[in-house]
Amino acid sequence: MADTPSLLQVPSSEVLEGRAKVHTAGAESVLVVRAGGKAYATAATCSHYGGPLAEGLVAGATVRCPWHHACFDLATGLASGPAMTPIACYDVVEEGGVVHVLGKRAAAAPAPAAGPVSVVIIGGGVAGAACAEALRRNGYAGPVTLVADEPPGPVDRPNLSKEYLVGTAPEEWIPLRDAAFYAEHRIDFVLGDPAVRIDPRERTVALRSGRALSYGALVLATGAEARRLDLPGAVRPNVHTLRTLADARAIIARAKEGARAVVIGASFIGLEVAASLRARKVEVEVVGPEAVPLARIVGEKIGRFVRSLHEAKGVRFHLGRRPAAIGDAGVTLDDGAVLPADFVVAGVGVAPRTALAAAAGITLDRGVAVDERLQTSEPGVFAIGDIARYPDPWSGERVRIEHFAAAQRQGQALARMLLGGAGGFRDVPFFWSAHYDTTLSYVGHAEAWDQVLETGSLEERAYSAAFEKGGKVLAVVCVGKDALGLEVEAAMERGDAAGVAALVRRG
Ligand SMILES: Cc1cc2nc3c(=O)[nH]c(=O)nc-3n(C[C@H](O)[C@H](O)[C@H](O)COP(=O)(O)OP(=O)(O)OC[C@H]3O[C@@H](n4cnc5c(N)ncnc54)[C@H](O)[C@@H]3O)c2cc1C
Repeated sequence: MADTPSLLQVPSSEVLEGRAKVHTAGAESVLVVRAGGKAYATAATCSHYGGPLAEGLVAGATVRCPWHHACFDLATGLASGPAMTPIACYDVVEEGGVVHVLGKRAAAAPAPAAGPVSVVIIGGGVAGAACAEALRRNGYAGPVTLVADEPPGPVDRPNLSKEYLVGTAPEEWIPLRDAAFYAEHRIDFVLGDPAVRIDPRERTVALRSGRALSYGALVLATGAEARRLDLPGAVRPNVHTLRTLADARAIIARAKEGARAVVIGASFIGLEVAASLRARKVEVEVVGPEAVPLARIVGEKIGRFVRSLHEAKGVRFHLGRRPAAIGDAGVTLDDGAVLPADFVVAGVGVAPRTALAAAAGITLDRGVAVDERLQTSEPGVFAIGDIARYPDPWSGERVRIEHFAAAQRQGQALARMLLGGAGGFRDVPFFWSAHYDTTLSYVGHAEAWDQVLETGSLEERAYSAAFEKGGKVLAVVCVGKDALGLEVEAAMERGDAAGVAALVRRG
């Protein structure tokens, strides 16, 4: 220590338990914090979207980002969803009442980890990509094959309906990883040669080209596809869905200033598309059968609030209505009204892609059924992401979650479990949704509730609503209360029902 110059020196009395603080050393911003009595120093911003980690939460030996709940191990910098890339860690020595932050630690090669003889992952979405990468980051040296069928490879799907569709995020933000990354990490990235059959008894996967892959462990990460409308005119070329980068490009090509769009579906994707099209000065009408948008997921009050945000930006709603046909004149509704449309975007939900699993005789349950270690009914075959229905420890229900961070965390958790990690998948579902300058963040999962506990004010963008069933808080929605969302998530992970109840009352 005596010979190593410090980058930073912070009095020990100022490095407080669980209270992260940013210090600057030249051009570097360093987060310094004490957790479990030990001082740590890391990069100060999140590797996902650059969120300020000091405004997040220190829980155990992790720091979590307030923006989208990415979580980083303070000792190693390793990330969990929605971040993939580790953050930098600094060597720290504490002596004589001073925390000395030494240089940035070179990323150490992980200790070799034993695992299956090989891993084949089908599906190059975020779940599959996160699993492949986490296998390497956790020291797996065996063969890893990632079979993908969607150019250009894994993408930042949530951005497709947000900044990318608005035009404020350049296209280079969208790919999560590229071929060079996979070559560097010795991941055999197969693009454009999809898996057409799996044989769990022979432990093989057949690709469309005729290539056969054998595996020690097989990971199904085939995700979901956008549901199509089933009505006259649904296949016209100006009727779009939004799942892939190609879908987003096609919508952008139509979204000229002054164009008229009808968005069918008033749930998250439809409403985010509406907001992004308004930013491009497109005239937008939204059609949905519900009386209040999003009410089934976040309750009527927040649903009405979100509707008002859109109306203030000029979106016109046709609720309690279904489309009957799409023709030259536009979209005809079930009451006979015709909404003129240059183009239509259908956001009417997704269907899990379970065909490969079904053909192999794997048990389905409105998705692919897995146990707490994400294993399907076939030994050695696992399922993660949008296709997997798994036992959720917090609610005690079997759930299938369609969220970006959850898909990634399942991929990362499965990698650790394949390498001998104990326990099961325990992460709490989390998602966010952006409407103009307002972001909702949602922790947990509630399909029904008997009570809503509110704190704060939606108008002031400082609000929380907790959805309780049978006296247990199943989910919490926050607007502007990022710290509360993080605290609730950490308490749910610990299984601390009393802690969650106290937090949602405090607000
Ligand atoms: C526009 C949009 C916005 C969203 N916004 C948010 C948000 O704000 N917050 C949030 O939490 N979530 C959001 N989501 C949801 C989130 O993106 C998904 O939950 C997540 O991408 C699921 O990841 P996945 O890897 O399980 O599946 P997918 O992303 O669907 O990936 C599966 C991949 O598998 C491939 N595949 C399928 N079959 C085969 C085969 N036989 N062979 C080879 N490859 C195959 C598919 O081509 C696909 O590339 C959004 C989704 C969309 C579409």
